[in-house]
Amino acid sequence: MSQHARLHDHDSGEGLLSVEEARERVLSTVHPLGSLQVPLTDAYGCVLAEDIVATHDLPSFASSAMDGFAVRSVDIAKASPSEPVDLKIVGRAMIGRRPESTVGGHEASRIATGAPIPAGADTVVPIENVELSGETVRILEPAPEGRHIRPVGEDVRTGSVLVETGKRLGAPELGLLANAGFPHPVVHPRPRVIVLSTGDELIPPTEDPQFGQVRDSNAYTIFGAVREAGAIPVLAGIVKDDVDQLKETLLVHEIQADAFISSGGVSVGERDVVKAAFFRRGDVDFYRVAMQPGMPQGFGNIEGKPFWGLPGNPVSVFVSFEVFVRPALMKMLGRTQLGRPEITAVLTQDVTGPVGKLQFARVVVARGDEGWTATPTGARGSNLISTVSRANGLAMIPPGTETARAGSQVRVMVFRSSED
Ligand code: AMP
Ligand code: MG
Repeated sequence: MSQHARLHDHDSGEGLLSVEEARERVLSTVHPLGSLQVPLTDAYGCVLAEDIVATHDLPSFASSAMDGFAVRSVDIAKASPSEPVDLKIVGRAMIGRRPESTVGGHEASRIATGAPIPAGADTVVPIENVELSGETVRILEPAPEGRHIRPVGEDVRTGSVLVETGKRLGAPELGLLANAGFPHPVVHPRPRVIVLSTGDELIPPTEDPQFGQVRDSNAYTIFGAVREAGAIPVLAGIVKDDVDQLKETLLVHEIQADAFISSGGVSVGERDVVKAAFFRRGDVDFYRVAMQPGMPQGFGNIEGKPFWGLPGNPVSVFVSFEVFVRPALMKMLGRTQLGRPEITAVLTQDVTGPVGKLQFARVVVARGDEGWTATPTGARGSNLISTVSRANGLAMIPPGTETARAGSQVRVMVFRSSED
């Protein structure tokens, strides 16, 4: 508690934490969730908690890449249209079975794509390159050893690392692990995140607002953001600006929580319920970050689980989540790459921001002839939620810049891909 004492100095206008400092205190507190073994279908999207090492070669047997004939390359080394080589067909190699016959000198075995290569044969001649008459196959050209044969271990060698610790299991990894015989990988589970909204003015989106009432949007923004991060959101609903109700709601959900996120009620107003409930209690701290939007923040542990008290304004919620919560959820998920990809883009318009704060301006990034451009999606107000939905990036205008001019370069955190 005492180590953060200066942070409680919220009225003086001084002692603002930098975004980096604020992010660092969050990240130094959270840890990957303990690992467990789950079926591949549950492991999808989770992060591998230990290296998976191949226990056998892949493919595990040599097979044909074509329909045709398995033969000995020496037998047909001198074959040509004018001096073809006739081979005796001695059998048929089928997929999924050990070949019945072996291939001796001047012999051939029919073979299907994917069928194991019969002993004795060392090359495959495709069906379209031969002439057939009865039990004889006529070869018109040579084929080197190994042609159209998929060798043992060509893909994966025994003892090699198939998938590394820290890798998020996507479609390609699931297929690889299934093929290599790892149906129950050890992964970090997805954190369950309890999401609640605070405010006497809030109503569910299913209701029509009376004058002054506001439909709860933050819960849904956070729901989507948590999901998109790979974690599991649990909506705990709207809590009135009532300290007892807030604490009770958190405790009711504690049993299934890996983390908590609330929105609203963290500024200095007397109705700021989150702050009233936790200020100077436990180890939840309230502080201001030199950023816009998203200046007031609360963070700490409740029952040993991370708790974020995000500000109430809808844009602040989105930006605070991106900057502080998402990287932490990534860490809880076991990922090592915590941040969004960043690009450098050229601003197409002036962006005016608060001096002394890092401004996150909502922009659309697009690839132009001369690299990336960033175009603001609207005004700066942190209540303007539509500016987020039109954006795909957050341009970071550093503290100390009053107006970032059109034509100047900015770093942009890209929060969704262009096809979304
Ligand atoms: P607060 O920090 O609680 O004073 O909230 C700041 C502003 O955000 C107020 O205008 C609130 O009405 C608005 N707000 C707070 N929570 C939500 C929410 N869940 N959905 C939409 N707007 C909200
Ligand atoms: Mg409020």
